[in-house]
This record gives sequence, C-alpha cells and structure tokens, in this order.
Amino acid sequence: MKELELYIHIPFCVQKCFYCDFLSMPVDETVRRHYVRRLIEEIEYKSQQYKGYEITSVFFGGGTPSILMETQIAEIMEALQQNFSIQKEAEITIECNPGTLAHQKIITYKESGINRISMGLQSTNNRELKMLGRIHTYEEFLHNYDLVRKSGIENVNVDLMSALPGQTISDWECTLKEILKLRPEHISAYSLIIEEGTPFYQTYEEDEQRREEGEEPKYLPNEETEREMYQLTGALLKEKGYMQYEISNYAKKGRECQHNIGYWTRKNYLGLGLGSASLVENVRFSNTSDLQEYLAGDFEEREREVLERREQMEEFMFLGLRMIKGVSRGDFKKAFGVEIEAVYGEVIKKMVSQGLLQQQAGRIFLTEEGISVSNYVMSEFLLKI
Ligand code: SF4
Repeated sequence: MKELELYIHIPFCVQKCFYCDFLSMPVDETVRRHYVRRLIEEIEYKSQQYKGYEITSVFFGGGTPSILMETQIAEIMEALQQNFSIQKEAEITIECNPGTLAHQKIITYKESGINRISMGLQSTNNRELKMLGRIHTYEEFLHNYDLVRKSGIENVNVDLMSALPGQTISDWECTLKEILKLRPEHISAYSLIIEEGTPFYQTYEEDEQRREEGEEPKYLPNEETEREMYQLTGALLKEKGYMQYEISNYAKKGRECQHNIGYWTRKNYLGLGLGSASLVENVRFSNTSDLQEYLAGDFEEREREVLERREQMEEFMFLGLRMIKGVSRGDFKKAFGVEIEAVYGEVIKKMVSQGLLQQQAGRIFLTEEGISVSNYVMSEFLLKI
C-alpha cells in the first residue's frame, strides 16, 4: 500500500505574536465551530481520493490547535480514523500553546489517539516572552508541561527560539539549561527570522539589513553571536544525550519527528484545512487561504503544479541536506535512475573542496561549516535550465 502523511491546519490563535507570519488569526467561538464542521467535511470528501494510501503520521499544526475544545479535536480525530486507513503505530502530533491547555484536554487528546505533543514555548525568560507577544509566562508553560507528563504522554517536543532582539548568549544558555532540566524527548531550536508584514518587520527591518550587510545591528544579535548561540545549542544538547538530526532539530534516540523526516525526504503528504499545502506523487497543490471561501465549503485544489524531474532532483538535494545524515547516493539512484555524480558531480566536488560537504559510506552531508552557510550550499544545487 502507498504511504501518505496528513497535515491538519488549525489557523486560530488567541492573539498574533509580533514575529509571526503563519496563516493564523484570532476568531470567535462561532467561527471555530463552523471551521471544524467544514474541516470534517473536507476530510470526508478528500479521503475518497486516497483510499489506496496508508497514513503513517498525522500532524495538527497552526495556528494553535489547542485553542479548540477537546471535543472538537476528538471529533476531527474520529473523522480521520473513520475515513483514512491510519497505521496502528502512526505518530500523531498536536501543537499546543501554553495558556491553552488543561488536564481534560490532554486526557481527551490521548484517548483519541494523539501520542505526541509539541509545545510552543520559545523562551524561559518572561521578559523575552512578552517582547515576542506570546500569551503565556514560563510558569504557565511549566504548569502545562506538568499536566502533559502526568497524562502519560511520552513523546514531547519543546519549540525554542534564539537570536531575539537584545538576547545575549547567556540569556540563551539559561533558556537551554532550564529546558534540559525537564528532559523533553525532542527540542526544536530555530533562530528568529524577521518576516515581512509582521510588527517585528516594522521595528527591526533596518537592523536586519544592517546585519545582512555585515554591519553591527543595534537590537538583533550580530552574525557572530548568532553562530555562537547555534554552536552552544549543539554542544549543550549533545552533552545531555540529544542527537541533532536536522539543522534545527534535536531528539533523544528514536524520538525524531517522523512527520518532519517525511517532509525532508519528500514523502507524500496531504494538507487539510485552510491554506494547507500538499505534495502527492510529485504534484504540489494547496487549499484556499481565504477563510470565507473555506467556510463556504470551497475545498478545491489551488496552485496545482506537476514537478518536473529537474525540480524533484533539486528538492531531493536541498531538503535532504537539511538532515545531518544528508542524502544517500543509493536513494538518489533509486529515485531518478542515474548516479548522483552524473547530475551534481561538479557541485559536490566544489562544495567538498570548500569544506562545506563531506562524503562517507554512500552518503553526502553538510559539514559544520556547511551548516552555517547552508543557504549558500543549497542554492548551488539549483539546476540551470
Ligand atoms: S502562537 Fe504560533 S501561530 Fe499563533 S501567532 Fe504565535 S507564533 Fe503564530
């Protein structure tokens, strides 16, 4: 049977964080109820096209999925179980925000089959949380984390964010050390990106430009500090038994996020819900991003694009190279019927000679130096037409 991952988008948040450009918004309870009804209709409708597929993972992302009532999540889960063939051992994750969780919610998640919780924390420092526009304090996170642990859910991720305005290396170190005391199974640690259209963009756009041009930024950490933060993350987490398996992701053995690995290895995934994107059998498409259209029951595919072989190869390389173990020569040959050297021989040679790529045991992967300039390395794998 063919395999498919499911992504379920819940585009609602209590309020917008100042740095966020995700498709998410605050809405009232009536809209949320209406959305859940439509989502279940979409599940029933789209599942008909995927009868021959087995679901290997489900990911509730957002937005803030935990903003919904637990009964709503249970209804969505029931619709998924009834309409798709979900593997018994599938990883089923829900993203939760501190401040939106309660004991009964977590118990219901577990009873409905959810076996992994991803908590958006970002920082253990209340001053930083406030500056980011987060709705919770660190103490509220701790309370929620405790509830999750008491529920018996054994697979927990915590999202953290470094390179915040005014953040020092020792501030970041404090956040890491506090979280390590809690021993989550998985930690995602991303650097803040100043995204266009966000309040942070208005405040820090000039500073970001200064940093990009190699000048000293006023509020954001400079490149050197950002790099030190990244190295510190790797070192501290390694010391505590976490394995870095992707540029920004770390896990205890066997706790790597299967859903994300599927994405980086270009497995089929189907997005359900507002604005969600899909890749199935090398065809990309997405749902409407207009909430009113979605609420009116418009589930038609948008931006349908059949990926050419060249594009498939490019994606294979730059998604695969995000993972610390890199890409496999064997997998490339299996996917495209040619040796990787026949297509990328020159680039690989160049990157290896610059110390940015390494080759070992049939795999090609980024070196430490390569990780720090990964955007440059990835861009070299774009094929000229
Ligand atoms: S909680 Fe997450 S999705 Fe919602 S506004 Fe904040 S960063 Fe964006």
